[in-house]
Amino acid sequence: MSKNEIVVVGAGIAGLTSAAILSKLGLSVTLLESHTQSGGCAGTFRRKKYIFDVGATQVAGLEEGGIHSKIFKFLDIPVPEASILNPACIVDLNDGSKPIPIWYDKNEWIREREIQFPGSSKFWQLCTLIHKSNWTFANKNPVLPVKNLWDVSQFLKALVPTNLITGILLKSTIFDLLRICGLSNDERLIQFLNLQLKLYSQEDIHNTAALYGSTVLQMSQQPHGLWHLKKSMQVLSNALEDSLKKTGVKVIFGQKINSINFDDVKKSWKVSAISNKKNFDYYADDVIYTPPPQSLLKHLENSLDHNHNYRKRIKSLPKPSGALVFYSALKKEHIKEITSYHYQVVSDELGSLFISISEEGDGRAPKGEITLIASLFTKTNEWIDLDQRDYIEKKRDYLQKISNALESQFDIASENWLHKELATPLGFERWTNRPNGIVGGLGQNPDVFGLFGLSSRTPFQGLWLCGDSIYPGEGTAGVSQSALMVSRQVLASKGIYDFNL
Ligand SMILES: Cc1cc2nc3c(=O)[nH]c(=O)nc-3n(C[C@H](O)[C@H](O)[C@H](O)COP(=O)(O)OP(=O)(O)OC[C@H]3O[C@@H](n4cnc5c(N)ncnc54)[C@H](O)[C@@H]3O)c2cc1C
Repeated sequence: MSKNEIVVVGAGIAGLTSAAILSKLGLSVTLLESHTQSGGCAGTFRRKKYIFDVGATQVAGLEEGGIHSKIFKFLDIPVPEASILNPACIVDLNDGSKPIPIWYDKNEWIREREIQFPGSSKFWQLCTLIHKSNWTFANKNPVLPVKNLWDVSQFLKALVPTNLITGILLKSTIFDLLRICGLSNDERLIQFLNLQLKLYSQEDIHNTAALYGSTVLQMSQQPHGLWHLKKSMQVLSNALEDSLKKTGVKVIFGQKINSINFDDVKKSWKVSAISNKKNFDYYADDVIYTPPPQSLLKHLENSLDHNHNYRKRIKSLPKPSGALVFYSALKKEHIKEITSYHYQVVSDELGSLFISISEEGDGRAPKGEITLIASLFTKTNEWIDLDQRDYIEKKRDYLQKISNALESQFDIASENWLHKELATPLGFERWTNRPNGIVGGLGQNPDVFGLFGLSSRTPFQGLWLCGDSIYPGEGTAGVSQSALMVSRQVLASKGIYDFNL
């Protein structure tokens, strides 16, 4: 097998994007994916007449200057067709109070906030100030956390004077901001923030880093915004695959890598994969690894035997959540009139349910029908350790509970479901090879966010991490930023210091 400059493991958005950037710059890249299709957590699957988005349903970073747009422009491929979400979501606390639409229009959102959370404007203004400072910094593509002099130089280049002020908040949480603004007892605001933050940072107000939370709380508004892709989420991956075809990347599906070892004779990394009981070896100077870092414990076993500290570091990462996702379809006339494609509702029995409803005619369901996807977080060990009988029973029970919650929320008669099924952490493990079906990367608490996070630069020269456990975190926009960062690091390691978007 001839040697590549780069082997990328995983054709989710992180792997596709880093492979696309590096090959566009002329490096020889092979991309290995265990599944038969690309997309990972942002992929889709077909069932009967329907196309379901597996995980991600909303996309950030498609606006002019947003991370996806910047990368697509660099790759010289069209940005997939999408519409802005306005509102991005309607949050229904189900406590008898009016649901909270999160408007795209900035002024409309400010007015809504004042009605919904009287007296909270100081908190939002503080978040806006922090976010503006964060955004100027993030737009210059800093490297975080810093591990060598080049990383430090990129970090310093990105700093703006306001970062020195917001830097005081490095170890603060969203709760600290509420306290500063005298809102630490505002229960309704706190419930709303807890729901929203859990979606984007996997943590609540007490554990979400103030610097991270301030930004994610403003992603739905101008000049950013969240988008709904026409046809399906798969168009994002397909567009990146088109770029890979143009630049001659070898994309190999259906091969599951099972080990990565440094070959001392060949002086390169050897990535071993298996497909239909056949073994395949690939050699490369650099490996970009996009499965969750926890998978390294298996794939990098031999190298970790010589670096106990790194093994300890990976083992001590906070445990990410799993997800339960309900995929369903029904006739549009059989659901009450909806005014948003996304809802977050509180259910007494299930906690927070995040709901995505397809736009009629957007390609996900036949005319007159819609798909409805509802997801909630779950602890993976509550599913993985069950014997088969208990697992089947628990799955049936949750399918029913989620159906009931949706029927009552949207006035759906139980006989009107045209399709319904549930994915558990076991399903996510099968689909994405994520150990135990963990999803969404590391929770963004101050101890693992930004400077204190897991670095893309590993202690093993030429082995790089990328994806939703690496700065800046989860989401297709987040992992694209991480792909850009790792691509710049790889290039710098080869003496190309000045590539940036
Ligand atoms: C239920 C849910 C809802 C979400 N909602 C949103 C949303 O609305 N908006 C948003 O932006 N984000 C959302 N996310 C998060 C987002 O989907 C992810 O953060 C992002 O897609 C992760 O991309 P990735 O490339 O880092 O990882 P992945 O998508 O997991 O890709 C990794 C790839 O590596 C492959 N792989 C793994 N192990 C191996 C191996 N041994 N050999 C070969 N290949 C391997 C996998 O098959 C996979 O294709 C959601 C996630 C979930 C689970």
